[in-house]
Amino acid sequence: MNHYDIPLMRSSIPLFKEYVDEIRDIWESHWLTNNGIKHKQLETLLKKYLNVPNITLFANGHLALEAAFELFDFPSGSEVITTPFTFASTTHAIVRSNLKPVFCDIDEINYTIDVDLIESLITSKTVAILPVHVYGNICNVEIIDEIAKKYNLKVIYDAAHAFGIEYNGKSIGGFGDVSMFSFHATKVFNTIEGGALCYRNNMYEQKLNNIKDFGIIRNDVVYSGGNAKMNEFEAAMGICNIKHIDNEITKRRELVYLYRKRLSGIKGIRICPDQENVVQNYSYMPIVFDKYKYSRDEIHSILAENRIESRKYFYPVINDYKCYEDVPYIKDADIPVARFISENILTLPLYGELSVENVNKICDLILK
Ligand SMILES: *Cc1c(COP(=O)(O)O)cnc(C)c1O
Repeated sequence: MNHYDIPLMRSSIPLFKEYVDEIRDIWESHWLTNNGIKHKQLETLLKKYLNVPNITLFANGHLALEAAFELFDFPSGSEVITTPFTFASTTHAIVRSNLKPVFCDIDEINYTIDVDLIESLITSKTVAILPVHVYGNICNVEIIDEIAKKYNLKVIYDAAHAFGIEYNGKSIGGFGDVSMFSFHATKVFNTIEGGALCYRNNMYEQKLNNIKDFGIIRNDVVYSGGNAKMNEFEAAMGICNIKHIDNEITKRRELVYLYRKRLSGIKGIRICPDQENVVQNYSYMPIVFDKYKYSRDEIHSILAENRIESRKYFYPVINDYKCYEDVPYIKDADIPVARFISENILTLPLYGELSVENVNKICDLILK
């Protein structure tokens, strides 16, 4: 059980009866996985909701990201430009694909890749850019697109935080060559565990299916694929949750606006502003303490003493992970902004069911 009175997040779940009604067909058909009716139905619903031409579902977001690298079959040791201010998965996917992560620093305002630095990191070995729409703050997709065209690079977006976000009326999943969404229990939309790749080029579909299902096509095995399929129970959870997603995002938006109203304009507190022409999903409530009267760690402790959970997310930066301590080009990468943000950022509780009273209580404690 969670020992906080106010947890950082609560997974969205439908009413118990809704889920039971949804999984009844699974009982009747005994079809538990392998592209069953729930899987097909969820794929159709998500294609429509996300407004993307192609989507392939996966067992989780991380395997989807690894599948994106496998799709392009880059030569081993090729370089991928990415950011260190993200979840472990982003860099691990590069490393586990036998590629080399090259770290680009982040923008001070929205913590996404600093597009002014990308070109200086490109070498003859660079094959792709893996930017992250961190907290749902979208990357500068136009400039990234220009750079990718100029140097003939693939762009794979880590859009794990960006479910449902639109930019200039277009789905964020429609930018770059491929975008990965995560439907993990902690994300704004979940299928318990799950993920997807979205892409414009419909030639990718067959290979992605081969990657996630052992390369089996009917009675033949055409590719040495792995297994990364989403099962019917997960798809059923997604079918239930998609009905409530707009309501969930609306409630979160109100809470984020309340947080902003209470905490903006305070000396030493920095909050991400709304980005222009972006429809947000309000998936996280990050706040940076920059010469505030208390440090990030002090605020974290004050909240914990009051049984309120907050998270140093993302801390540490990937470059400081134990698993990379013997890799000099990772450990010593030049990323001062990412380090500063990582050391001073805190994410605050945010989920649809969080009450206005509790948001006010959290703000009171921070401001006291
Ligand atoms: C959650 C997350 C992932 C991985 O997704 P899973 O579905 O948990 O495998 C990758 N990148 C980022 C930024 C994430 O937050």
